[in-house]
Amino acid sequence: MNIILLGAPGAGKGTQADRLADARGLVQLSTGDMLRAAAAAGSPAGLKAAAVMKRGELVSDEIVLGIISDRLDDEDVKGGVILDGFPRTVNQAVELDALLASKGMKLHAVVQIATDDAQMVDRITGRYQCSTCGKNYHDSLEKPATEGICDKCGGTAFKRRQDDNEATVRERLSIYHRQTEPVVKYYTERGNLQQVDGMVDIDEVTRQIDAVLDGVAS
Ligand code: AMP
Repeated sequence: MNIILLGAPGAGKGTQADRLADARGLVQLSTGDMLRAAAAAGSPAGLKAAAVMKRGELVSDEIVLGIISDRLDDEDVKGGVILDGFPRTVNQAVELDALLASKGMKLHAVVQIATDDAQMVDRITGRYQCSTCGKNYHDSLEKPATEGICDKCGGTAFKRRQDDNEATVRERLSIYHRQTEPVVKYYTERGNLQQVDGMVDIDEVTRQIDAVLDGVAS
């Protein structure tokens, strides 16, 4: 099953994608994670992307489509993927249709996690990640069971993203409304968009997504 998770910054796409990947044996493809890895590796595209990401703006469609296209050729994605943070522009959505068709893949569901902007700044500025396995946490909403120890891998080092500061978050939310909301319309018009409530607790969002996916034929 191939799924797109859409939603504003802070909607919980990464957290839900992580859970879905574990529960359904799917591969999570986060373009944000892939771009951060490219930046850390110092590749030319990664370095170009890093400056744009720091400002909270969108990386060029060309760079993003290139990394997604390459990744979709890998053997491990054949059992199904969760696209997290992609597509973010209508052009990316159109190009994704072409990419999937060219690789003989099908899109089974597009799930939008709907949220109010008002709480997104707190959600994002409080979040952090295990440095070893990437599991997401939050200062108040989702702490590890034992402070300082990752629930998933036992790691003890954690990190915060450079672009998770208030000014950049506000820019990212504004860009979401301008450039990514039209993607919601794109899939709504094609009849494959389903919405879940992203303002309820994390487990309830997971239940709502599960209900949507259980109703979709793989
Ligand atoms: P994320 O981890 O999804 O919040 O993405 C972090 C940053 O990576 C975004 O603010 C953008 O600068 C960049 N980025 C991630 N995915 C995309 C995409 N599909 N298109 C353009 N830029 C992206």
